[in-house]
Amino acid sequence: MGATGSIGKSTLDVIGRHPEAFRVLALTGNHRVQEMLEIALRHSPEFVAMANPDAATALHTALVAAGRDDIRVGSGTEALLEAVRWPGVSEVMAAIVGAAGLMPTLAAVRAGHRVYLANKECLVMAGSYFMEEVRRHDATLLPIDSEHNAVFQCFGDPKGVRRILLTASGGPFRTWPLERLQDVTPEQACAHPNWVMGRKISVDSATMMNKGLEVIEAHWLFSLPADQIDVLIHPQSIIHSMVEYLDGSVLAQLGNPDMRTPIAHALAYPQRMHSGVSSLDLARGPALEFEEPDLARFPCLGLAFAALRADGAAATVLNAANEVAVASFLDGRLPFSAIARLVEQTLTDYQPAQPTDLDAVLDIDAEARRVAAAHLGLAAA
Ligand code: NAD
Ligand code: MG
Repeated sequence: MGATGSIGKSTLDVIGRHPEAFRVLALTGNHRVQEMLEIALRHSPEFVAMANPDAATALHTALVAAGRDDIRVGSGTEALLEAVRWPGVSEVMAAIVGAAGLMPTLAAVRAGHRVYLANKECLVMAGSYFMEEVRRHDATLLPIDSEHNAVFQCFGDPKGVRRILLTASGGPFRTWPLERLQDVTPEQACAHPNWVMGRKISVDSATMMNKGLEVIEAHWLFSLPADQIDVLIHPQSIIHSMVEYLDGSVLAQLGNPDMRTPIAHALAYPQRMHSGVSSLDLARGPALEFEEPDLARFPCLGLAFAALRADGAAATVLNAANEVAVASFLDGRLPFSAIARLVEQTLTDYQPAQPTDLDAVLDIDAEARRVAAAHLGLAAA
């Protein structure tokens, strides 16, 4: 799921190196027809779902023209669920960006599949409910986010864990003068020093909301309270995260910054396989540096920690407001430095009680988007 995206393409690259072990049965995308056409011709799935109906029609026409009318095409959000439930599917890469990925990822969990989780927004939005469904349906959840995959690789006896340290590059603006952040363009925000990623997560990395979302993600994945989750800036992105134990041992996972490593780790787990990533050369590489995150520069990180501590539905509101803010920034309607303010205002104005079921979570997500959008309207007036 999310085959045309950055994680989707890295996944298909890894899978393409192991044709004896994996077969692509179904792919999902949104509106990028040409990219999906190329991917479908290369990997020959039985089914392709395009969330955008016009894109589905265009893809079908293009596949027929290419002599591949045997590849079925589905359209709309229903088709995403159809892909997850396609006969023979047992493993699903959940790499749709944002809240749009929640229902299809939940469908994969409910089918009892082995689910590779890249879509962190699922857990931020509906963590308690999501993890309950994982247990109820005996699904296997393996983390793809590089930090969580690193923690997973280093995680031993949970009772012996003192804390985990999520590393963060600090993004492209770590050393910029604060006043210059006013005029940051989407292109500058999406030019990450170490990783090539989709636009939403690139902006999240620049505000460090990405690390905030990852703190909440780690809370759900590893059952740790906020006090046992620390964030450490490490600009080289070579150490992907660490686990500290009661005896003072600290275990870290290292590697070149390339998402094919965590993807291959999860796909092969508990074995290992080639990913196409080159060997880490510590002697020739840059010196590894560390520093504490500056919460004045990166207020989104503080907002996410507060949302996690607040319990209730604050994380759902945080995620929804952030999605609205980032989309507005990418559209040129909101200055970069206003992203954190919009999220904070939405969290202040809208403080719903703990949701009791998934419908309540979806209602809170929708209302938070309305509250955030109303603020945008005011700001524009
Ligand atoms: P991307 O923007 O490159 O790709 C997103 C994918 O989702 C595309 O295939 C797109 O077609 C699909 N999509 C978007 N909106 C959709 C909708 N409404 N319905 C159905 N499909 C839709 O994003 P990405 O960088 O690949 O990130 C995907 C997810 O993985 C995000 O949740 C991100 O936080 C997470 N993640 C990414 C990276 C990375 O290095 N890129 C690392 C860790 C985690
Ligand atoms: Mg990450």
